[in-house]
Amino acid sequence: MISTTNLKTTKSEEIFAAAQQLMPGGVSSPVRAFKSVGGQPIVFDRVKGAYIWDVDGNQYIDYVGSWGPAICGHTHPEVISALHEALEKGTSFGAPSVLENVLAEMVIDAVPSIEMVRFVNSGTEACMSVLRLMRAFTGRDKIIKFEGCYHGHADMFLVKAGSGVATLGLPDSPGVPSSTAVNTLTAPYNDLEAVKALFAENPDQIAGVILEPVVGNSGFIRPDGGFFEGLREITQENGALLVFDEVMTGFRIAYGGAQEKFGVTPDLTTLGKVIGGGLPVGAYGGRRDIMSMIAPAGSVYQAGTLSGNPLAMTAGIKTLELLQKPGTYEYLDKITKKLADGLLQIAKETGHAACGGQISGMFGMFFTAGPVHNYEDAKKSDASKFSRFHRGMLERGVYLAPSQFEAGFTSLAHTDEDIDRTLAAAREVMSQL
Ligand SMILES: *Cc1c(COP(=O)(O)O)cnc(C)c1O
Repeated sequence: MISTTNLKTTKSEEIFAAAQQLMPGGVSSPVRAFKSVGGQPIVFDRVKGAYIWDVDGNQYIDYVGSWGPAICGHTHPEVISALHEALEKGTSFGAPSVLENVLAEMVIDAVPSIEMVRFVNSGTEACMSVLRLMRAFTGRDKIIKFEGCYHGHADMFLVKAGSGVATLGLPDSPGVPSSTAVNTLTAPYNDLEAVKALFAENPDQIAGVILEPVVGNSGFIRPDGGFFEGLREITQENGALLVFDEVMTGFRIAYGGAQEKFGVTPDLTTLGKVIGGGLPVGAYGGRRDIMSMIAPAGSVYQAGTLSGNPLAMTAGIKTLELLQKPGTYEYLDKITKKLADGLLQIAKETGHAACGGQISGMFGMFFTAGPVHNYEDAKKSDASKFSRFHRGMLERGVYLAPSQFEAGFTSLAHTDEDIDRTLAAAREVMSQL
């Protein structure tokens, strides 16, 4: 554990300098590059439980968890041993395997809206596939998404798309045809009146509404009471579909996701992150009548060479099994509440305006008095203060997501003592901000 503020990261710096010559920005995904907090990203060597180690040998308590999948803690021994066994049987079949049935059944049992499921390789793929299905089922082209919500990087979704895009200051991405973006209508999150107005202005043209039921991609933002019920009613009245993008929240804020937690059932759902247990998996599912339109059962085409990959299915199955044990979500809730409440208390005592919260093992804090109901509110957060906070925490052995506009994650491997150490570090940093 690092206790000094002199973090030595010589090897990280060398490797990242080389990476920048080899890969755009030196990374395989933009938000890893620390653009929004400044400084150089840390290059990692290994992960275990609640901890990560960088190439210079520094150890950190990890609150990124590979952006969500590591809910049982990194390299959980049961996941690793199941993977070893699966590895011996082969890394890819490109043909049906019983592992797909097992994970499909687990997902269908867990997630209220899902009667049938299709596995893909990422959250992005799940969302772009569900979009095609929404349009095919309704025969309509337009969709509504919310400002600051991220649904992967497919063209149609790169409109007011939250964290990664916001961090880079690209409101829309070059390369997205305006003829595509014009079909994406946006409303502020938590704003039912704005959604009603869009339906009124575009009668019989909107295929559906897609949202992060609890927002994690513009920081952590909760749904207001009645928001889901309102969306359910408006979509039904207009013959449109309601889609929960639970790539982040699925099996994270409750075993059955936000739809179980809040008791509102969408027509379709996308999943990713946790269901792959650290391997690349995405999925989409929902009502049987809608899902039956997917090829080869129906005519909506969607395919994948590595989809349903046996290693990925194995990691997913084992991870969900571990999550089924009694008390897991209560534990996540308990330690995460202690962390989130503790951070807010320390901010208050050290004189910083802050707001935030948590649901189960997902949390966030903004350096603004709040309240934060949507992306506009989130943007009032003091980003330069967050950058200094991030750096200070890093120097004290705590790895937070390198952007104010990202939720944080805990795991079953985080202990009370980890939270205490994190809060002690936060107190030191905030009293010097
Ligand atoms: C991470 C995320 C995605 C994209 O998933 P990838 O696996 O990164 O493609 C989509 N939607 C939400 C809500 C996410 O958090």
